[in-house]
Amino acid sequence: MIVCRPPFVPEMHHHRKQDLEKAFVSHAPGYWAGQSIPADLWNDATWQLKNRITSLSQLEQHLHLTDEERNGVLLSGTKLALAVTPHFFNLIDRDDPDCPIRRQVIPRIEETWTDDYEMADPCGEDSHMPVPGLVHRYPDRVLFLVTDRCASYCRYCTRSRVVSGAGEQELETDFEAAFRYLETHTEVRDVLLSGGDPLLFSDRRLETILSRLRAIPHLEFLRIGSRVPIFLPQRITPALCDILRRYHPLFMSVHANHPRELTVEVRAALERLADAGIPLGNQSVLLRGVNDDPETMRALIHKLLMCRVRPYYLYQLDLIRGSRHLRTSVAKGIEIIENLRGHTTGYAIPQFVVDAPGGGGKIPVNPDYVLQRTDERVLLRNYEGRIFEYPEPGSGSPAAPQPRLEPLLEPAAHLAAG
Ligand code: SF4
Repeated sequence: MIVCRPPFVPEMHHHRKQDLEKAFVSHAPGYWAGQSIPADLWNDATWQLKNRITSLSQLEQHLHLTDEERNGVLLSGTKLALAVTPHFFNLIDRDDPDCPIRRQVIPRIEETWTDDYEMADPCGEDSHMPVPGLVHRYPDRVLFLVTDRCASYCRYCTRSRVVSGAGEQELETDFEAAFRYLETHTEVRDVLLSGGDPLLFSDRRLETILSRLRAIPHLEFLRIGSRVPIFLPQRITPALCDILRRYHPLFMSVHANHPRELTVEVRAALERLADAGIPLGNQSVLLRGVNDDPETMRALIHKLLMCRVRPYYLYQLDLIRGSRHLRTSVAKGIEIIENLRGHTTGYAIPQFVVDAPGGGGKIPVNPDYVLQRTDERVLLRNYEGRIFEYPEPGSGSPAAPQPRLEPLLEPAAHLAAG
């Protein structure tokens, strides 16, 4: 096979590289250039899935693997399978072992190292499953794990215990029991379809599930969590969009972590979904060496808005087994938000959250903008570090005082710099 040169120049100056990452680029045919794949095959989701990179020998046909990666591939197979679609594989920089795309999908030996506090089920989902495959932890909403398969596998996946079929646990969703549970639990108004990736189902299978859910009158709101628009944009066909648009209100959360993931093909897929009336949000995971710097995150969130996707959550990486090499400090996430909030469009700023270990749910974590709060006043600082006082109306006071608009104090030096 002829290996074509990926479109990245590793020694490029940092800022120039950021500019490039912000551009929408098609990377096809990339590593497949020598095979002259006809466009209709390349653009076919089934072909993409059949031609995924799944083995060490396939990887080594294209990439110069490091020892950490080679050993990772050899030893991680009993934990989470290796699979990368040709579309996504083309985003990998052949010569850069620190490439932010390969860190996400190519196993490393560090995956086999486990810290004491790491867990197989860090969000405590298994203990909240009244029916196999249905997680009911919050009063009015459920998580419906409809499949264990994904288009490609993320090495940091929080459900790696069940996803891909390689790990120790198997997902055995009982669809009929889940539908019966939802029919009788009238307090549930919101169903999130996830897995694995629900958009790997055929159109017909997906429609069967959606129509069955829509037949339950108290279900107000349906959501799909999917990384298919990013890993396999070829799956977002007009026919699929025509099905999805029949089940509104239907929202979708996609999952992109790095600006390079938003290619020409991905943007077109996201636009098809948006044109079908599906409100789109993005959930990113904060990953060391992938997106743990403000400039990369800024490029990502700006590109998401251009794709009509609202950045929704930025997750602190869960304490999943073997993920320490990808984990950042919580302080890093706060620093990134601090560098975005006020400095760019508010719609672009995701909420940084820590999913509380053991099943406490998502906890929003923010920079400290409230410096002091009493019954009389709140002391606030803005994104430039300037400090303002907002007088509280006081209990029973008919006329609220006007907020003070002038800064009260000069910014503290360390905040002014941020
Ligand atoms: S797409 Fe989602 S469920 Fe699938 S491996 Fe990645 S993080 Fe896990």
